[in-house]
Amino acid sequence: MTTTPKAPPKLPLATISKRIDVTQDLWRMWLKPQTPFAFKPGQYCTIGVDGLERAYSIASGPFEPEVELFIELVPPPDGNLTPILHKLRVGDRVTMRPRAKGIFTMQDKYRDHLMLATVTGVVPYVSILRSYLHDNRKGHRFFVLMGASYKDEFTYDKELGELAKKHSDFITFIPTVSRPNDPRNVSWTGETGRVNTLVEKYVAKLGLKASDTLVYACGHPGMIEDTRVRTEALGLDFQEERFWKDDE
Ligand SMILES: Cc1cc2nc3c(=O)[nH]c(=O)nc-3n(C[C@H](O)[C@H](O)[C@H](O)COP(=O)(O)OP(=O)(O)OC[C@H]3O[C@@H](n4cnc5c(N)ncnc54)[C@H](O)[C@@H]3O)c2cc1C
Repeated sequence: MTTTPKAPPKLPLATISKRIDVTQDLWRMWLKPQTPFAFKPGQYCTIGVDGLERAYSIASGPFEPEVELFIELVPPPDGNLTPILHKLRVGDRVTMRPRAKGIFTMQDKYRDHLMLATVTGVVPYVSILRSYLHDNRKGHRFFVLMGASYKDEFTYDKELGELAKKHSDFITFIPTVSRPNDPRNVSWTGETGRVNTLVEKYVAKLGLKASDTLVYACGHPGMIEDTRVRTEALGLDFQEERFWKDDE
């Protein structure tokens, strides 16, 4: 008996409705899905062009009409989809798998949430915080520690800085640059050093206790691995979302 290969399922489309270029290799992109797209804050969507698909965490909250992404270009020859996505403009379309995925979501049972990110790794925290505030929730505390090489890469620093100012009783935002002496970071007066190396300092400074705290790490696999080791040595619970594998 011969079998006929099945044609790949036709995936729903999403239209790029807005785009903001942040640096030469970082951009924000808003997608308007063709069909309603449900997700939980912290989850990711799978988008593609001509069958080439990748996962992207969602920065917007489920209450927002469009799906906001923050993407880093991995230039060719290493990068495959991002060089294609980077060329797309408002009005262009991508495929979007109908179901969001991922378990990197807020764990309500902890009061304190220490959230570490490298650059695009901040995306799930933006969604979690926007949604938490939109839903008028209370009773938790959030401490976002965000690392980048250069200050112009933070992107969500204005939004997170303003949220921390407005809700100083339960949101703290600490951006840190790992190359403080680079001319691109001139006039930087904030925290310095790789974000993972600051774990012990801020766990002590913020008075975080193992019984109340979950540490999150998202983005660069090297940062995540080091954070995991440091966090476990402090006896704190930990969850992670790796955007790629170290050995790839
Ligand atoms: C759950 C999940 C959520 C993700 N969310 C985001 C997101 O919000 N924003 C985002 O930009 N990416 C995100 N990614 C990564 C994304 O899926 C792609 O892997 C990335 O955009 C590169 O795609 P590519 O096809 O160009 O390169 P790929 O073919 O995926 O990778 C090519 C090579 O580049 C390496 N690589 C992949 N990404 C990076 C990177 N950022 N920096 C350096 N090297 C890299 C890979 O290890 C591989 O060796 C996420 C990944 C996962 C698994």
